[in-house]
Amino acid sequence: MGRTISSATPRNHELGPARARSGSDRKQRPVTSPEAALAHLLAAARPVVEIERAPILAALARVLAETQYSSIQVPPSDNSAMDGYVVAAEDIPPDSETRLPVVQRIPAGHSGERLRRGTAARIFTGGPIPEGGDTVVMQERCRQEDGQVCIRGPVEAGEHVRRAGEDIAMGDRILQSRTRLRPQDLGLAASVGLAELPVFRKLRVAIFSTGNELLEPGRVLTDGAIYNSNRYALHASLVALGCEVLDLRIVEDRLEATRDALLNGAAGADLVITTGGVSVGEEDHVRIALQEVGELDFWRIAIKPGKPLAFGHIGSTPFLGLPGNPVAAFVTFCLFARPFILRLQGVEDVMPTPTQAPILSDYATRPSKRCEYVRARLERDKDGSAAIAIHSHQGSGVMSSTSWANGLALIPPDTIIERGTLVNFLSFAELL
Ligand code: AMP
Ligand code: MG
Repeated sequence: MGRTISSATPRNHELGPARARSGSDRKQRPVTSPEAALAHLLAAARPVVEIERAPILAALARVLAETQYSSIQVPPSDNSAMDGYVVAAEDIPPDSETRLPVVQRIPAGHSGERLRRGTAARIFTGGPIPEGGDTVVMQERCRQEDGQVCIRGPVEAGEHVRRAGEDIAMGDRILQSRTRLRPQDLGLAASVGLAELPVFRKLRVAIFSTGNELLEPGRVLTDGAIYNSNRYALHASLVALGCEVLDLRIVEDRLEATRDALLNGAAGADLVITTGGVSVGEEDHVRIALQEVGELDFWRIAIKPGKPLAFGHIGSTPFLGLPGNPVAAFVTFCLFARPFILRLQGVEDVMPTPTQAPILSDYATRPSKRCEYVRARLERDKDGSAAIAIHSHQGSGVMSSTSWANGLALIPPDTIIERGTLVNFLSFAELL
């Protein structure tokens, strides 16, 4: 703690040699605002169209392809909300005690017989209300003696009865297409008797990590090497979003190798995502390889971390090139890849919902021209109200900040952040 905040994106992300090499990349590829980049991505997304029927449990986290309606009413019939006695309310005078013979026993799952006037039936939660009965008196208000129940009035007609169809009427819309199915949605589908749901087929995403310095975890670290962390964060993020992953592992920093991997990925998947190699250094081949085998739409975005983000196509397969720095890769995945992937999966509403909260303490960085997404934690302050703590080290390679954080706080361009400043916060729960 108490470290100064690193505000600059590392130098290998700045536009360097290739700018000189290719004239003025800065002019040809102006910095794109995050909003414009996202709008461009979403407009370019071609969602999957193939539909398959998934058994209800296998439909968890899949995207519903057709709106679902109920063919029954729920509950199917009037039933008791309590353990007690079912009576006709008219049989219970308001201000005296009434004794009624108990002539039936109706547990859940049994259907009772018609209740004769002047009688009561023992009933349990979920037991169907018999014809002739209209009210359940909870057992705590009753005494049973010698086959009779004593009930002190008044009772409210209809009380403790769950009405047929009060949850769902026949024909009600229960699940909206183009939404991701959650556990409660599966419960709802089951409650109307659906055993399968139509879902869009899974999206297949090819990934690879560029960098000669990368080594897989489990190996002994050699001089100059670092462990490949992006592969794991990216692969896991895709699994969390319900994608199938074609993992092409590490691709060395050579133009041909990069080109081959892009073509392989595009042939085997609906989307190709890479990390690293998207700047314009001599060791960065993704951009040029993409231009050779496909087309590049944009690649510089005014956000921090994560300026170099490549988007393009290899044939008809979309391509996203995330930055190499692990935090930048993770943040750009959350902000750009995620909504794009959701849209490809068929999801309608792809934007995360921010919450607003005040910053807990001053954030000592110079205001940036770029929108900053800082690793932060939404916490309770001393009074119990929500406030945002910002991680003290915001370098784009500091992966520990993302694990410490529970979301991203959004610092708009040219903004000075002081204690108490209200900012938008995107919880990781909204982003993964
Ligand atoms: P690049 O965008 O390829 O220039 O990479 C930027 C920085 O991120 C460099 O310091 C790389 O070593 C690092 N980096 C790139 N890819 C990975 C990866 N898969 N895992 C961990 N660090 C990476
Ligand atoms: Mg690299």
